[in-house]
Amino acid sequence: MLERLFSLGYSKTFAERYYELWGERALAIAEAMERPLPRCFRVNTLRIEVPRLTKLLNKKGFQFRRVPWAREGFCLTREPFSITSTPEYLSGLLYIQEASSMYPPVALEPGPGETVADMAAAPGGKTSHMAQLMENRGIIYAFDVGEERLKETRLNLSRLGVTNAVLFHKSSLHIDELGVEFDKILLDAPCTGSGTIHKNPERKANRTMDDVKFCQGLQMKLIEKALEVLKRGGVLVYSTCSLEPEENEFVIQWVLDNFDVELLPLRHGEPALTKPFGVELSEEIKKARRFYPDRHGTSGFFVAKIKKL
Ligand code: SAM
Repeated sequence: MLERLFSLGYSKTFAERYYELWGERALAIAEAMERPLPRCFRVNTLRIEVPRLTKLLNKKGFQFRRVPWAREGFCLTREPFSITSTPEYLSGLLYIQEASSMYPPVALEPGPGETVADMAAAPGGKTSHMAQLMENRGIIYAFDVGEERLKETRLNLSRLGVTNAVLFHKSSLHIDELGVEFDKILLDAPCTGSGTIHKNPERKANRTMDDVKFCQGLQMKLIEKALEVLKRGGVLVYSTCSLEPEENEFVIQWVLDNFDVELLPLRHGEPALTKPFGVELSEEIKKARRFYPDRHGTSGFFVAKIKKL
């Protein structure tokens, strides 16, 4: 079993960790990561209603199935030519997005008129989804440090007709300088990205535990800042595309131990791990959710919904 993970290109450290976490299933997860994911898209309801766009695409020969956790989400089952060359794509009627990435905004439920922060926004997939759920009303303060990625974000938001987002080329560790209190915050955190190995196979071998620890430190600082600027009763959704418990369950356990918060239940995905590497975590951690390529046909993904008390 470990030999097979080595032959797929995983480093000894990570192959052993995955075997310890999932046993024989580690191979099913790794093998599913070798297969390309279906191409999925989100209907941009700022520009068109869902049934109108699906009808237009069906007429051109595209077929798709629904994403179970997002009303506006679909994954292509037949793509007669690239959907990115259609006028529908070019005029911003849809956004190409991995299915699990559609869950954090749905879980956060930002509403029209609310004051929302997106603490790691580029290239704007989830910012534009939130704008759509908010019907372009209220405001989204969207932060990112990646200059090139922010240029792409600006283009995406403009193509999609988002008018309620303000972009900041700034670390969201400085979000408190705005002097704003938020109803809702999305922290789609920078992470080691081990859930996206199908897109970035080099991550099987080139990540180290130092990278995991570095990301964990940043994730904790960002969450601490988020909880500082969130209103009482406000909601923070934390997500990563990492498989590592140190960036997911251990971060959430730290939040439960150090802040006045509660985890809110989520309907989709598998319950998060409560005993990763033999470490006993709160039962409540099960309310956070994981998505896996072998079971959900998505990237490896983690989502937690946290209410500030
Ligand atoms: N939410 C985005 C989307 O759905 O399109 C994807 C975000 S990606 C997972 C993480 C982002 O965090 C990267 O774009 C990276 O530049 C950004 N980032 C890293 N450190 C940051 C910081 N201190 N403040 C704000 N953004 C940061």
